Amino acid sequence: MTIAPFGIRGEPLAAHTSLHIGGPADFFVRVTTETDLVGTIRVARQHELPVFMLGGGTNLLVSDKGIRGVVLQNAWREATVDGPIIEASSGTALAHVAARAAQAGIEGLEWMATVPGTVGGAVHGNAGAFGTETADVVVDAELMDLNGDTWRSRVDELGYAYRTSSLQGTPIVCVRARFRGTLGDRASAVRRIKEMANERTNKQPLAQPNTGSIFRNPPGDHAGRLIEASGLKGRSIGGARVSEKHANFIVNTGTAKAADVKALMELCQSEVQERFGVRLVPEVEVVGEW
Ligand SMILES: Cc1cc2nc3c(=O)[nH]c(=O)nc-3n(C[C@H](O)[C@H](O)[C@H](O)COP(=O)(O)OP(=O)(O)OC[C@H]3O[C@@H](n4cnc5c(N)ncnc54)[C@H](O)[C@@H]3O)c2cc1C
Repeated sequence: MTIAPFGIRGEPLAAHTSLHIGGPADFFVRVTTETDLVGTIRVARQHELPVFMLGGGTNLLVSDKGIRGVVLQNAWREATVDGPIIEASSGTALAHVAARAAQAGIEGLEWMATVPGTVGGAVHGNAGAFGTETADVVVDAELMDLNGDTWRSRVDELGYAYRTSSLQGTPIVCVRARFRGTLGDRASAVRRIKEMANERTNKQPLAQPNTGSIFRNPPGDHAGRLIEASGLKGRSIGGARVSEKHANFIVNTGTAKAADVKALMELCQSEVQERFGVRLVPEVEVVGEW
């Protein structure tokens, strides 16, 4: 690994993903301010390099060959409260938004404490938990294209559906977003966060590297139920294993390659398709050079 004129060259992305998997980035730049975020995108554009926005790396399967161009790790964290509204920079942890809301006696954002990753990742993927999703609480988002032009989109302009937004498959960057809760009681918001966190710990294999739900739930069913009913709970390929605790989680037992996880995902898809005629759609984003 060498320091290049533009960020770090060859940084292993396994160090920056919750699955602890991923090959090198051509160039890796970590930003902690809005100025650096905008400036890095401008410089990448000048060098005609593609930019991959990395938030918390909690919804990614990065290939073993890594990502070409610039991986921009967004660690710009700022949040302000105004009545029932919280405005947060895109690199702010979603859990921090939940904590700030609770401190200010704002209710309705407690679920965010249980979803790892950043505001940018949640706005991009319409993250959700406990029956609420980003689309239900976001007021608007400031967006930016690769020319550095910015604009504000209201929630109804973000193309939200289950774990989907109009930002996916585009190079549009979320700069910041505003979320609305309701003014309520601080103690009950804090209690609710604790209850939700406990429920998570009991049901999910949080002690092993993972990337949350691997597949979206098909309409009216659960991907985990279908995988389990296909006899795949505990099945391994290389260092990747379908979790014994929750079959819609694939965990890295220590030595997993991205190729192992991908092969296990494909096995789940083909077995579930054969038994139940349901095509499981990945929730995790499979990225990089394969
Ligand atoms: C233990 C665990 C539990 C989880 N539980 C849930 C859950 O309950 N509900 C749920 O929805 N998800 C869950 N996830 C998945 C993950 O936390 C969410 O998808 C999260 O929103 C991803 O955010 P991130 O910052 O980590 O994004 P990353 O994984 O870094 O990136 C995901 C995508 O978002 C894009 N992106 C990131 N930042 C920006 C930005 N500023 N602008 C534009 N695009 C951007 C990336 O380019 C990439 O395409 C879980 C994951 C784990 C590990």
